[in-house]
Amino acid sequence: MRGTGDACAAGRFAPSPTGPLHLGSLLAAAASYLDARSHGLAWRVRLDDLDQPRNQPGAEQAILVALERHGLHWDGAVSRQSERGERYSAALSDLDELGLLFYCRCSRKDLTGHAVYPGTCRHRRHSADDSAVRIRVDEEVIEFEDLLLGPQRDALAQSSGDFVVRRRDGIVAYQLATAVDDGDAAITRVIRGRDLLENTPRQIFLMQHLGLEAPLYGHIPLLVNPMGQKLSKQTGAQPLDLERPAENLTRVLRVLGCAPLGADSAVATADRAGLRSATATRKHCEALLTEALESWSPDHIARNDTIA
Ligand code: GLU
Repeated sequence: MRGTGDACAAGRFAPSPTGPLHLGSLLAAAASYLDARSHGLAWRVRLDDLDQPRNQPGAEQAILVALERHGLHWDGAVSRQSERGERYSAALSDLDELGLLFYCRCSRKDLTGHAVYPGTCRHRRHSADDSAVRIRVDEEVIEFEDLLLGPQRDALAQSSGDFVVRRRDGIVAYQLATAVDDGDAAITRVIRGRDLLENTPRQIFLMQHLGLEAPLYGHIPLLVNPMGQKLSKQTGAQPLDLERPAENLTRVLRVLGCAPLGADSAVATADRAGLRSATATRKHCEALLTEALESWSPDHIARNDTIA
């Protein structure tokens, strides 16, 4: 494992620009920010914008403005997956050279009723344009220690089976892009929502085959609506109110177990001031984060999903 003293080592936040940030995404952003800073690491922002049809015009800018308004300042340039096509192609070639890839023409209907991929196209080692590309998994068992959830163990052949690394529409799959990007950017700590936990073994598997070092992972609980659904654009989550950044931040810091004492009363004052000055509220958020760092610990994070 890369040492945390490494100058390049970093944490990251990787939103998809499918809409503006909501309270649930602010929770993930603040958690990864505090975790990185508490280890003296850089904190990077990457836009997971590969799925062009799902990207929303203006979302990218809205996300970056919202992070700034909440005092979540990142290091270095923002990276975009849409600019890394050549690197993903190179990674696919490497995996192909290892004899791990095959071209799959199965339709959704062909796969209905199969909990894991049944291996139908494993013999198709040659390219066909309308094919998805899958990676074969055999007896691999991936084990890792989640920073919040403890020891994890996943036998890929039973959980996902041979999985897609390039979709039928030519778009590189989330698993591959994430593994390559986290590895190349020397990301050593990934803190993200628990809804992504089931992806982690596949990402570690890819990193192992690509000679990339896997980060440490911590999967935090989600903010949910009263029906127990994860806050998301699909479940009607409202965009963050940028007139009230200190209030938003205090809410997520409370879930993370590191809201500074007295934050609530200070928040009311700061957010009122925000109607006059974005700078004042941003500075207040920065102060909240600095104070939150002192009590930040994965052990303090709420263990269950929280109703927002
Ligand atoms: N872009 C993904 C999302 O917004 C997160 C990816 C990750 O943290 O690995 O859900």
